[in-house]
Amino acid sequence: MAKISININSGSIQKEDPIVGIDLGTTNSLVAIIDKDSKKAKALKGKGQSVIVPSLLHFGTNEEIIVGQSARSFLMDAPERTVYSVKRLMGKSFGDIHEHASYFSYKIIDQDAEELVKIRIGNKFYSPIELSSFILKELKYRAEQELGTEVKRAVITVPAYFNDAQRQATRDAGKLAGLEVLRIVNEPTAASLAYGIGLDKEELKHVAVYDLGGGTFDVSILRITQGIFEVLSTHGDTYLGGDDFDRAIYQYWSEKYSIPELEGADIQSLRLSAEEAKKALSSSEHFTKTLQLGGKDYSLELSKDALKACISPVLERTKAACLLALKESGIALDELDEVVLVGGSTRTPAVKEAVQSYFPNVHINDSLNPDEVVALGAAVEADILAGNRKDLLLLDVTPLSLGIETLGGLMDVIIPRNSKVPAKVGKSYTTSVDGQVNLKVSVYQGERELVAENRKLAEFILKGIPAMPAGFPKILVNFILNADGILKVEAMEERSGVKQDIEVKPQYGLSDAEVEEMLLASITHAEADVKTRMLLEAKNEANQLIYLTERFLEKNESMLTDDELQQSSLLVNDLRNSLESNDKDIILGHIDELNEYTRPFAERLMDISISKALKGKSLET
Ligand code: AMP
Repeated sequence: MAKISININSGSIQKEDPIVGIDLGTTNSLVAIIDKDSKKAKALKGKGQSVIVPSLLHFGTNEEIIVGQSARSFLMDAPERTVYSVKRLMGKSFGDIHEHASYFSYKIIDQDAEELVKIRIGNKFYSPIELSSFILKELKYRAEQELGTEVKRAVITVPAYFNDAQRQATRDAGKLAGLEVLRIVNEPTAASLAYGIGLDKEELKHVAVYDLGGGTFDVSILRITQGIFEVLSTHGDTYLGGDDFDRAIYQYWSEKYSIPELEGADIQSLRLSAEEAKKALSSSEHFTKTLQLGGKDYSLELSKDALKACISPVLERTKAACLLALKESGIALDELDEVVLVGGSTRTPAVKEAVQSYFPNVHINDSLNPDEVVALGAAVEADILAGNRKDLLLLDVTPLSLGIETLGGLMDVIIPRNSKVPAKVGKSYTTSVDGQVNLKVSVYQGERELVAENRKLAEFILKGIPAMPAGFPKILVNFILNADGILKVEAMEERSGVKQDIEVKPQYGLSDAEVEEMLLASITHAEADVKTRMLLEAKNEANQLIYLTERFLEKNESMLTDDELQQSSLLVNDLRNSLESNDKDIILGHIDELNEYTRPFAERLMDISISKALKGKSLET
């Protein structure tokens, strides 16, 4: 029975039904909760054999859906009706994944590169959201079995590099499974929480979370303070993991024992033996096994040193990502407080040794089961949301900056990346032309200085601004980002009260690789971008000044001497010509010259409004 209590502060009724934490993984999924008695996080298995539910689905010919371990045998027997790695498809269009299409043995519909992918099983079509919801339903069911009560609320984890579309898809999958998703949490955040890192609000911690699973790898550097988990950087490879170790061992044996090219089930047997050897060497020194392949017996051996040699090229790739992530995070190695290991592959001792060598002298947290750590952390977050840990509030952050286009195609960031959500930020703008009655607000996401290099999310036109001289209207643009990462943009001309708003729907089709690429590109191109921005800003300023000065001269002709008029026009022309130079310093030089010359007039004529407008920032019409 669910208990009901009343929140004394708000007077609202609170139901004490359980909130579970879910790790919806590429290979494996788990559900966990904080145990009422021990107050510790524990993974739930219900009546299942293990707490781990392989993220596998088999669709039987009689419409039955088998989830988890029982679906495994169908990977070989009925590959076209058995779905794995559905997480890789979340929030993706076919265009996003086509280069990896051969990785999937089931049918991915490829009619429209722009549309969200669908998977065809027999003559039915399923979206990744529906498929994920079947896995979530299984987890919900197991939790209910074990807890003996209905489970309706959950926290679900996603990789730090997941974009809005992928987060939204995960949330939708939860909804479809009958779960109210209270929060989407970053996996490295959850992993840190599982170790209690971040639970002391006063502490400032820098943490590296190294997550090496079966087929995916990522490393994230977090800054944690005051309940805010900020992802400073994240790198990785969504097609790198323990499976590559198995392949390397397979290759090593094939060469060592001159095993001829294998076929069918033999390939699978040798691959499974490679995995078995790798796992065995996590707790013993040597591995031997006799295996029959193609009618011949092979005595397979693997030493720890041989394993190390096999996996070292794979580890080198993770090293590069770790070093890059650290560099990009902007923190020094000696500022790093903790490393957290996540994912089954970190059980291999050589992996831990390697990670320690990338982050020398930094304490490694590996006492928890690396398969469970993300789910356990999600349970901690669930417990916080349930209000069981007083005055702790965890905040998520936005992965990419949000802003609008200003004159010259520049990106004016309103909510920077890594801002906490929910967030509301406003910025004032003005018009650039006299009598401008419409103003276009184009919303972009990304890190580059030019909007053309970023991703357009939405656009709307603020209409009906009363005609006023350029620089007079005061247009407030508000970005309101809710806890789900959904953005609402409002624009209002404050003098007249003309208002317009738009909800920016999550955009599907930006792959995690693209998000990573956008972040990387912003770093690679930072210098060139800054140069372009400075030149464009100088040009904008020049154009504004030319326009306003000419108007000023026209309006106030009678109050100026011929000499002053002539000299001003000359300087305006010089400034106009300097635009051709495409050299910001030359342009700025002419701006200064013209400003210097005309400033006394403005002061003299006390036309403060115009001199104010000279400084205004403008949007495009
Ligand atoms: P995950 O995706 O986090 O579930 O990780 C699965 C990967 O961990 C697979 O490549 C497994 O082969 C690997 N793994 C599981 N147990 C062990 C172990 N004891 N030693 C080494 N690797 C393991």
